[in-house]
Amino acid sequence: MSDAQPPNGGNGDQPPAGNPSQPGPSSSTVAVADGDTKMAPAEPEEEPLDDEILNASIDEIQTRTRLLENDVKVMRSEHMRLMHEQSSKRDMIKDNSDKIKQNKMLPYLVGNVVEILDIDPDVDEDSEEGANVDLDARRKGKCAVIKTSTRQTIFLPLIGLVPAEELRPGDLIGVNKDSYLVLDKLPAEYDSRVKAMEVDERPTETYTDIGGLDKQIEELVEAIVLPMQQEQKFKNLGIRPPKGALMYGPPGTGKTLLARACAAQTNACYLKLAGPSLVQMFIGDGAKLVRDAFELAKEKAPAIIFIDELDAIGTKRFDSDKSGDREVQRTMLELLNQLDGFSSDERIKVIAATNRIDILDPALLRSGRLDRKIEFPLPNEEARARIMEIHSRKMAVGPNVNFEELARSTDEMNGAQLKAVCVEAGMIALREGATVLDHEHFHGGIQEVQAKKKNDQFYFS
Ligand code: ATP
Repeated sequence: MSDAQPPNGGNGDQPPAGNPSQPGPSSSTVAVADGDTKMAPAEPEEEPLDDEILNASIDEIQTRTRLLENDVKVMRSEHMRLMHEQSSKRDMIKDNSDKIKQNKMLPYLVGNVVEILDIDPDVDEDSEEGANVDLDARRKGKCAVIKTSTRQTIFLPLIGLVPAEELRPGDLIGVNKDSYLVLDKLPAEYDSRVKAMEVDERPTETYTDIGGLDKQIEELVEAIVLPMQQEQKFKNLGIRPPKGALMYGPPGTGKTLLARACAAQTNACYLKLAGPSLVQMFIGDGAKLVRDAFELAKEKAPAIIFIDELDAIGTKRFDSDKSGDREVQRTMLELLNQLDGFSSDERIKVIAATNRIDILDPALLRSGRLDRKIEFPLPNEEARARIMEIHSRKMAVGPNVNFEELARSTDEMNGAQLKAVCVEAGMIALREGATVLDHEHFHGGIQEVQAKKKNDQFYFS
């Protein structure tokens, strides 16, 4: 019936303004009217007609039908509009995808995230209306500062394709070489902080690998191992265990070896920082390495930080005009600061080693910092025999080798040289084609090492 009506259904006499004025009834009656006209024969009982419609006159129904047709027309045009908008949006998406594809073209420039910033711009409310507005400056949210491998530091109001939550300072990223937008997160092959450190999660040295040094082992166990293993005992007694120890003595006397054995005993992670590697080219880099080392130690606790050749950064402070000296001193100040700062964590210990305790800054040695000082002298005769025995454990040693006698002729030799004696003895035996090392081979080894030692360096102690 309604199909027959439209031609006469005066669009003209029905103002379009009438539609919005009765959205309620018209929309509710669309289904009813449709059901009435088309669906009625199929399922008449489903939607009983309103009394209002049943009682309406033909004129009223016709007016209503016209209204509905108008509604449909408006909706159709809205649908068309939306379809059009959709297609234009689709074009835009395609355009943007192409742009992204173009931007993502390899190669990327490699960079590092320096900082992720939270920006909440102060919008200048009284700026002139209608004036040009910089939309980028008004954007809220995360921004990034990055440093590229071309040594530029760049601020990015818009980070790029990687969500800000996934980026942390120090992360390695790939950026576009022109726009510097962050395109990808690159896999960090190593912890960037480990650059200047040697990290050993599980050192394997044991106390039996160390010859002599019984007193030193005992002192270090008291200072480092017991506080880590029997924390409660110290707490019960109300004792504050030392934070660390300083080992000093001539080179090659087993300082590093004992530190590693100590870490192995406590199942602690062993972080080795070499003093010279803390002296960096750029101001502040050395201090940052120190900070990083302590941060890493906190993450991996229990941990032992071993700082070898502490004298490289720990020399007495003096007035100097050279910025290099000042930078070294700054690194040491950071070390002092860190030593003071981690008192709350008993599971981190610092062991430092040096050959020149006499030139160290007194601030490093004051109690509460590296207050346990352990001297590592050159090994005595008994210790020398033990050290040679230890290092020839894996060699095929003949029954006639008398280490005590050999020790008597290795005066003034340190652990490292005694190890070299064993290696030299092995080389001599190899040269001679012997299958077992005998006493003479070791004698030969001692002579070789002594010959080298003569024109060797002068040791400080
Ligand atoms: P530096 O001050 O030059 O760093 P260091 O005192 O740390 O020297 P280590 O690196 O511990 O010396 O020793 C060098 C080598 O000498 C070690 O590989 C170890 O095998 C051997 N060594 C030194 N002392 C001993 C020792 N008491 N027992 C067994 N081996 C030793």
